[in-house]
Amino acid sequence: MFSTLEKHVGSRLIRPNDELYDEKRKVWNAAIDRKPAAIVVCESEDDVMAAVQFAKEHQLSISVRAGGHHVAGLAVCDDGLMIDLSQMRKVTVDKERRVALVEGGAILGDIDLETQKYGLATPTGTVSETGVAGLALNGGIGYLRGKYGLTCDNIVGARVVTAEGVLLDVNEKNHPDLFWAIRGGGGNFGVVTRFEFALHAVGTEVWALDVMYDLKDAKQVLQKAQQFLAQAPDEAVSLNFTAAVLPPVPFLPEFLHHKKVIMLLGMYAGDAKEGEAVMQPLRELAEPIVDQTGVVPFTALQKKLDPMVPDHVPVYGTSLYFDDLTDEAIEQILYKIDNAPAPSILVQLWALGGKMNRVPVKETSFAIRDAKFVLLVDIMAMAGDDDVCKQWVDSFYAGLLPSSHKHASYLNAIGTSEDTTKSAFQENYDRLMEVKKLYDPHNRFRHNHNIDPEG
Ligand SMILES: Cc1cc2nc3c(=O)[nH]c(=O)nc-3n(C[C@H](O)[C@H](O)[C@H](O)COP(=O)(O)OP(=O)(O)OC[C@H]3O[C@@H](n4cnc5c(N)ncnc54)[C@H](O)[C@@H]3O)c2cc1C
Repeated sequence: MFSTLEKHVGSRLIRPNDELYDEKRKVWNAAIDRKPAAIVVCESEDDVMAAVQFAKEHQLSISVRAGGHHVAGLAVCDDGLMIDLSQMRKVTVDKERRVALVEGGAILGDIDLETQKYGLATPTGTVSETGVAGLALNGGIGYLRGKYGLTCDNIVGARVVTAEGVLLDVNEKNHPDLFWAIRGGGGNFGVVTRFEFALHAVGTEVWALDVMYDLKDAKQVLQKAQQFLAQAPDEAVSLNFTAAVLPPVPFLPEFLHHKKVIMLLGMYAGDAKEGEAVMQPLRELAEPIVDQTGVVPFTALQKKLDPMVPDHVPVYGTSLYFDDLTDEAIEQILYKIDNAPAPSILVQLWALGGKMNRVPVKETSFAIRDAKFVLLVDIMAMAGDDDVCKQWVDSFYAGLLPSSHKHASYLNAIGTSEDTTKSAFQENYDRLMEVKKLYDPHNRFRHNHNIDPEG
């Protein structure tokens, strides 16, 4: 069955008996163990078109792997065709047009590496090894969200291989319906082989907040920080809270090993002196344990969290949006953290606002434009405690769902279900379905937060 595709891609077609099969089907989350019928390691748009055409002829479903970082392991599927873009990571800066041309398998660090040569940047995320494509297609929340919006808001063009195996140039003028849909609607509509992202003059150094408090002060920290945020310039200030039990790793001093902390990371998108003055109150919310705030290379800020996120361990995660954080919600979150069944957790609250919330809901398919916080919960299971970790995550979600914003979750950080998908797209869901019917009527691209063309 696979011989026609093998003629095209040769040994880059990997099947279950091949030596590389187990390595290639691995994704970031080690709890995922899916077995595709075959994996195609693509090196060009031609390869991608051949793979999609093959899947069409043989009625196979398709999963696409860019960075492979989705917590639900959506890059790999059982029985279908896995299109692996991890060899397609080229980034080129077009200085004239102020855009970055980014291949579909790039990771976030690939973009910064090229764009920072010119002091430019596009908004991405907070861990440099995350894949661009998955992140951008479902949103993309990073330190530049207040000033320049989400990653998807900065897509100005894309090349998309549709379910027919046809390559389309997509932008505001060409296929505007598809252009609208891919800015939030995930991998539902085809394989993006190349993005064009708008670039901004961010500079190579930025004023970055990096202060750590004892977790026992977290309630006070969150309450006071909310008062700060209510009057702060939301375009310039980005602020992420991360509650964690620090790992016993050599890059941390021994007194921090196993300590429960709440870290505040963020940046001021603007003049450094101004940033220092504006954000000073965030360094005085309680007695800091460590404060490394100051001017840093932008690329260093973009990698700051990297060491906190181990690769290839079993992870369970969930997410919800919130308006104001009530005392009750804060207490619930802190209670769950105190009662985590495994030592390795990351519970993050990111303050939302500025440009990302000023984009009209219908301008892109990304629909949650009025929440004030997004909660991201991840727990890394040690051998054998997967079930309790999963239960903890599920009960974290269920306990907070009633007080969440529109019962909606950030799709880049949660597993799939029809309810989750519909709540995230709100009033944009029906239009997404229309676009899906046009470009993928047989739901070939279904390993994602799926827009079912049948309804
Ligand atoms: C350590 C870590 C840190 C993170 N930090 C952030 C953060 O700071 N901000 C943030 O917003 N999110 C963050 N995330 C969430 C992240 O946005 C998602 O995990 C995202 O899906 C990762 O993209 P990927 O390309 O690695 O995904 P993959 O797992 O490769 O793919 C995810 C989905 O996208 C589809 N897809 C992938 N590539 C393509 C393509 N080229 N064309 C069409 N469909 C495609 C896949 O089919 C799949 O459905 C983080 C996740 C992790 C694990």
